Amino acid sequence: MSQDWNTRTRLVHEGTRRSQYNEVCEAIFLTQGFVYESAEAAEARFIESGPDEFIYARYGNPTVAMFERRIAALEGAEDAFATASGMAAVNGALLSMLKAGDHVVAARALFGSCLYILEEILPRYGVEVTFVDGTDLDQWAAALRPDTTLVFFETIANPTLEVIDVNAVSALARGVGAKVVVDNVFATPVFSRAVEQGVDVVIYSATKHIDGQGRALGGVILGSRDYIRKTVEPFMKHTGGSMSPFTAWVMLKGLETIDLRVRAQAASALAIAEALQDEAALARVVYPGHESHPQHALVKRQMGQGGTVVALELAGGKEAAFRFLNALEIILISNNLGDAKSIITHPATTTHQRLTDAQRDVLGISPGLLRLSVGIEDTSDLIKDLKQALAAV
Ligand SMILES: *Cc1c(COP(=O)(O)O)cnc(C)c1O
Repeated sequence: MSQDWNTRTRLVHEGTRRSQYNEVCEAIFLTQGFVYESAEAAEARFIESGPDEFIYARYGNPTVAMFERRIAALEGAEDAFATASGMAAVNGALLSMLKAGDHVVAARALFGSCLYILEEILPRYGVEVTFVDGTDLDQWAAALRPDTTLVFFETIANPTLEVIDVNAVSALARGVGAKVVVDNVFATPVFSRAVEQGVDVVIYSATKHIDGQGRALGGVILGSRDYIRKTVEPFMKHTGGSMSPFTAWVMLKGLETIDLRVRAQAASALAIAEALQDEAALARVVYPGHESHPQHALVKRQMGQGGTVVALELAGGKEAAFRFLNALEIILISNNLGDAKSIITHPATTTHQRLTDAQRDVLGISPGLLRLSVGIEDTSDLIKDLKQALAAV
């Protein structure tokens, strides 16, 4: 593939492997394994397999390899390993790197399942985890120790949309020799510059913007070729969290349009945040790309645009939030994000229900807070839907 191709060209063509039929659309190699021409060929492949040689779909597959090439090109990472879900990616990235006795520093505001791994699973295997407020650089500096091996955070916190300074935290981590691992879902691979900002490992739930059409679960771990092939691949191929070839095909098709979709969604999200500024029923409209966001300057510097999610806080608490949700006509009540369809979530009673009131308070998840994932519908239709539902409150 050509090094000087720009992003949209790469998203359509990068990584394509054509079979002897020269198909236009990427083929789905829906096979668990591959036939060897001889016993000697099988032996040789198990010693070292070439770029077009595969062994077993848990280890790698041509359709999955196409997806890995294409997403690595988008992120600007050397290599990628595709996983069965976003959580298989988080689990694989962390467990493949850590061992008993290691120390991890993590931001406290995390996706529920990420929090479960860091709070429940890692300590069970002798890994010590210190949690900090990710937006407070002094807390990172105080928590990092000479024996800290890894730092983990979500670049934009779900659902409150606080932004972590990737450059600054990476520099602090590098100062003690710790690797930086980020869950980058809310930044999206379109707006991410995590690799150039000093991050060692970038993780996506492909279920979100990469599929972008709500069809399949998937994930990906991105990093240096050495890390992906020597640390992640052996762990993933032996523990079973690899992506299926069919899912890889869905995700490849998603990547073709991700730049168009996510840029349109972000433009719509900004227009929505702007249109809702003076609504009396709303106590707060939070959008990282809007000038009212307290970290707007950091967002501009870090990712240029504010992503596809807007947080709305109803002044009237849970009751008002539920009345608003039930009055929506286009926007769906569900809990995915990054989808072509606009989706709205009440975190306190769904995604963050497991937490105590005190934990939700610390994270800023109030009873009136809603997370709106803006889709690709017509912007004015979405604004009309939001305004008529606010009127019903
Ligand atoms: C959805 C999500 C995940 C988990 O991804 P799955 O594909 O559902 O396993 C992890 N982190 C963040 C920030 C997410 O939004």
